Amino acid sequence: MIFWRGENKVLNYRPDEVIVEIGSEESPILRNLRRALPDVPFTLVEHPKSFLSALQASRDPFGKGKRRLLLMRHKGDFLKKCPGSDGQVCCNYFVINFASNCPMECSYCYLQDYLAQNPALKVFSNVGDLLEEAHKLLSRHRRFFFRIGTGEITDSLALDPYIGISEEIVPFFAEQPNALLELKTKSDCVEGLLRLDPKGRVVVSWSMNPPKVIDDDEHLTASFDERLVAARRCQEAGYRLGFHFDPMIEYPGWEEDYQGMIERIFALVDHQRVAWISMGVLRQTSSLKRIMRQRFPSTRLLSGEQVLCPDGKMRYFQPLRVRMYRKVLRWIREASPTVFVYLCMESKEVWKQVFGFSPSCERELGNQMAHH
Ligand code: SF4
Repeated sequence: MIFWRGENKVLNYRPDEVIVEIGSEESPILRNLRRALPDVPFTLVEHPKSFLSALQASRDPFGKGKRRLLLMRHKGDFLKKCPGSDGQVCCNYFVINFASNCPMECSYCYLQDYLAQNPALKVFSNVGDLLEEAHKLLSRHRRFFFRIGTGEITDSLALDPYIGISEEIVPFFAEQPNALLELKTKSDCVEGLLRLDPKGRVVVSWSMNPPKVIDDDEHLTASFDERLVAARRCQEAGYRLGFHFDPMIEYPGWEEDYQGMIERIFALVDHQRVAWISMGVLRQTSSLKRIMRQRFPSTRLLSGEQVLCPDGKMRYFQPLRVRMYRKVLRWIREASPTVFVYLCMESKEVWKQVFGFSPSCERELGNQMAHH
């Protein structure tokens, strides 16, 4: 279990064990883990095969996977283009996977399905290779502006107090003339960031939902107020901010809650320091729903009508989605007339109904975001 304690939140997630694959002994990540987790057993293994097969055989491999942290070298590419979603407008985003799985437990988390065959909580030890690969890519394409995020198959900051990854990657990206790094989180683990100078090249962004949704479905994450305070601290330390209203959930009273959420955000943060806001409604596949039914049988996210979209994901009916986006956009505009707002994984048709236009290609949207 993870507990968030006290006013300055201390991440009290303790893995039961850290399993270190041979070849990772010299990594700065291991040094940081040992320092931060002096009471946790560390086991050196030649190959984590038996651990991984025991995990797969357990009743809840994904949940159980979070209990042990596996430190290993990553053998493939670290940097990938975000896969996006078929038929939906894509924002030309790149992802760096420095870890896989996440210590928090959102009922709707798509990783439950996406990582079903690979559920261990892994952190990759060869950060030097990651930086070298990023350096090669960025220097080969100096005329292209990259937006790169680390929060696709893990949370960007939840493990940072233990692994100190931000200390490795923020200074690197701060020096890159053609990249913006986005650290996406539902935690308030920003202490490590506050000591660094992002030089305008790092956006720290929070997935935001009203407190009711956080309490009901975003288990073990930081509360709404904790996220907001963390955002304010990052703003004061020179970071640009992002907010993702995603997944937006429809329920009786959602309007009041989302409007109140937006007002509270802009009462505390300077809208001119916000790089972007995204909106996206709940998306589910039938296999994710099956897993949610087993792992979170009482969540209300399993009820309600949805339609199957061309990318194989189920969403609310299009008229309802458009109505929700228009309302939220209006509340954002009341608080900040100029902040850049975009839709995540939506069709051109929905874009047109919400904004009156749709980007002609993914590059156009990516460029608009980069230059905003
Ligand atoms: S914080 Fe993100 S990655 Fe972690 S459980 Fe929630 S949705 Fe999944």
